[in-house]
Amino acid sequence: MTELQHELARRRTFAIISHPDAGKTTLTEKLLWFGGAIQVAGEVRARKAARHATSDWMELEKQRGISVTSSVMQFPYRDAIINLLDTPGHEDFSEDTYRTLTAVDSAVMVIDSVNGVESRTIQLLHVCRMRDTPILTFINKLDREGKEPINLLDEIESTLEMECAPMTWPIGMGKRFRGVYNLYDDTISFFDPHAEKGTSEIIKGLDNPRLDELIAEQADELRMEVELVRGASHAFDKEKYLTGKQTPVFFGSGVNNFGVQSVLDAIVDLSPMPLARPAESRQVAPDEEKFSGFVFKIQANMDPKHRDRIAFLRVCSGRFERGMKIKQVSQGKQLAVNNAITFMAQDRNTTDLAYSGDIIGIPNHGTIRLGDTFTEGEDLKFTGIPSFAPDLFRRAQIKNPLKMKQLQKGLQQLAEEGATQLFKPLASNDLILGAVGVLQFDVVAYRLAAEYGVECVFESCSWATARWLRGKDDDIKALLDKAPANMALDGAGDYVYLAPNRVNLQMAQERHPNVKFLETREIY
Ligand code: GDP
Repeated sequence: MTELQHELARRRTFAIISHPDAGKTTLTEKLLWFGGAIQVAGEVRARKAARHATSDWMELEKQRGISVTSSVMQFPYRDAIINLLDTPGHEDFSEDTYRTLTAVDSAVMVIDSVNGVESRTIQLLHVCRMRDTPILTFINKLDREGKEPINLLDEIESTLEMECAPMTWPIGMGKRFRGVYNLYDDTISFFDPHAEKGTSEIIKGLDNPRLDELIAEQADELRMEVELVRGASHAFDKEKYLTGKQTPVFFGSGVNNFGVQSVLDAIVDLSPMPLARPAESRQVAPDEEKFSGFVFKIQANMDPKHRDRIAFLRVCSGRFERGMKIKQVSQGKQLAVNNAITFMAQDRNTTDLAYSGDIIGIPNHGTIRLGDTFTEGEDLKFTGIPSFAPDLFRRAQIKNPLKMKQLQKGLQQLAEEGATQLFKPLASNDLILGAVGVLQFDVVAYRLAAEYGVECVFESCSWATARWLRGKDDDIKALLDKAPANMALDGAGDYVYLAPNRVNLQMAQERHPNVKFLETREIY
């Protein structure tokens, strides 16, 4: 085995997805704690708070009690190197989450046992489905009176259209929650909210008399249920899991540390190592010797005094070494990267080495864009980083016309970061913002004021939807001639059709059958 193959085999890169309040932050924190990456559970929350204190524009996120930005945490666990990518919980920032999901190899889905499968979970699962991302399920809050476990599995199977393979089975719930039976090694882990790591004792075998001693009448209940579950549910099938058709299910209580270890072990034992990634011309295998990667997220610097940004790059093949010269394919430029950042659980360190599956942060002043591919020379373009047709539009109106330049620059940069989409109609000087969620506008207004010194109001406007155009030059020109008022350029200079309503869009499509009107655009 080469060094590269060895490093590859031990990497796991995943994200946690859930409906807000299901327990994503809690699980993140507990995973880091069980992984030994933080000393005291509570630090992630504290760190989030500290970050708020040092960052002006994130005041907004504090005020609203939501997390706007994603971040990355790397930590070793057993022999593995785990990369955990955080995603914003609020659906108004779903584009950011979708892009982050393009950079992982698997996901952990957290379900609240009281609420079952919720709307946001369904949306996110839909995105995972597009790439057949393997999903582990953690059913959380078993310390509360929730839905019957068997009904929860049914709900997952019917609403999310994948088989469930229970890996553990809960013993009671709420006040009667005693622990779980581990179906695959025939052990019982007992829940104790006062034990340091949530578990007081582990015993072997359903017939063990110690079981009756510890949980009395619930022991026979458990034996019967396990028999039922074994008969009625799906057995774990690794192939099905790896192709997104089946999800292994774990039960627990994140806040009480219970069940967390099983999830962490499953990530190491079951989840895939870095997978091949599609590029325009070919698939790129993670064990190729030459370095390649793509940028899935741009984040403004946490420190508002410096306007530099960090591009989050997922390494897709080879190895990144400090000082390495890499090519930004979209610009045809070589970049010597000395100051890339690795995001450890507690700190940021300068990256000396990174392998496929790892995420590195590259500081820059706006030269790196979302979707950019970097290589050791090959003209590759990774595909699949989506931009979605917005259905919310606003016209930016500046309070002080002398600041027009700053406004244009600010909007352009925020569009490149993916904070909003920007459209410039060809027939006017309007600056139109497009968003998927309305809070995006608030973030943009706040950041324009805080970072660019521009006071701006956003007025409603008549556009209802947008489509990216693909076609031969002549066909696009014909559309331009016929409907000049609807034509615009997006932030990257691509032609877009803006429609005031669906009927108008439909008519334009019928009249110009040779032009493709795309609802999502892949960013290059
Ligand atoms: P997120 O919005 O998905 O990140 O959810 P959080 O991790 O912030 O959790 C939402 C709320 O649920 C918080 O008040 C947590 O303390 C609580 N919570 C998390 N896990 C559990 C659990 O296992 N049992 C109970 N009863 N509450 C939990």
